[in-house]
Amino acid sequence: MSEANKNANKNLIHMDIYAIVEATQELYFGNVKDLNINRVELVSVPKDDGTVVQKPYMSPTKVRGVARRALLWELVRLGDQKVLSCGIPATCGNCDVCRLYGALVTTQKGTKAKTTKIDSQGTEGENLAGSIASRVIQAGGVAIQELTPAIKQRLSSPFYVVNGKIGQYNVEEIKKMLQERGVTGDTLNRLSQPMPYEKEYVTGLFSIYWHAYYLETSKKKESKMSEPQMVAFSFLETWKRIGAGHPKGAEIKEAEILGKPQPLIVVDVYYKPLGKRPIISVSESNEKTAIETFIRKAMIVNGKKNTENRITISENEPKVILFERFIGDTAEDFLRKLASGLDTTSNLIEPQKK
Ligand SMILES: [Zn+2]
Repeated sequence: MSEANKNANKNLIHMDIYAIVEATQELYFGNVKDLNINRVELVSVPKDDGTVVQKPYMSPTKVRGVARRALLWELVRLGDQKVLSCGIPATCGNCDVCRLYGALVTTQKGTKAKTTKIDSQGTEGENLAGSIASRVIQAGGVAIQELTPAIKQRLSSPFYVVNGKIGQYNVEEIKKMLQERGVTGDTLNRLSQPMPYEKEYVTGLFSIYWHAYYLETSKKKESKMSEPQMVAFSFLETWKRIGAGHPKGAEIKEAEILGKPQPLIVVDVYYKPLGKRPIISVSESNEKTAIETFIRKAMIVNGKKNTENRITISENEPKVILFERFIGDTAEDFLRKLASGLDTTSNLIEPQKK
């Protein structure tokens, strides 16, 4: 497919990614700060039996910020000049990241900068203040397990240097020291109490879904990455960097698919949405059932149960590929190659051109 300007829409595909990711160690997803404790974000989930449970939440808005930053840095590394004036939350509305991930431009930077924006259809328009809709949607993120966050103290037991002596915390000595420095009343009481700083952490499994739509299959000459490549790259890099503070990191969970351990990931590339979506109900709290559900749904394409890691559905007259599904190892391999700018086995995404 060379200069396909006859019908630009013909080259716009959709790409969906479904995965179950595992917090590889305790993670913190910031929410509110109570006195001396950072709480993690929890959501209330109704169960089939009428009870309501609380589950940790890897919020898609946080995932989105991490994904977007990963992409900005990579494009800078690749020598993209436009992204240099783009940031979060100050999106520029003019670079490849904004074209794909959307932008909100509230003011125009100077009047002499005569720039243009290009929408997904490739048409050019004036760069006016306004918004560009995102074509990558992040969803999911409710934990499978009901977990009570673990609370950890983030500072070691307090100690002071009093009169040249280093010692363990001692209320009376601290009080005396503070009084000698003129501290009195409530302030004296407050400052002489130990105030260890605590933080909640969660672990567990999270089902994640990304839906990217109307992606241009071929890389623009002036771009450093194609749109499907940008989605693949930001998806893979996000899990290494997720979590506020430290530690960070999650990874795609593995389980047995078609008789061997494989990552729980499904990637669809398509014009027609023919695959059953491997989504886990938020009310499901059993890890084993959730994984079985994910795999069962992953295998259903075009209304039939399949037994392959790679499924292609095409139409005959004329021969057009409508839908491709990659499962497990095949899906991960496909995404890694796509993210790296290498050729993939997809028939819908064009090979990268230099
Ligand atoms: Zn931008």
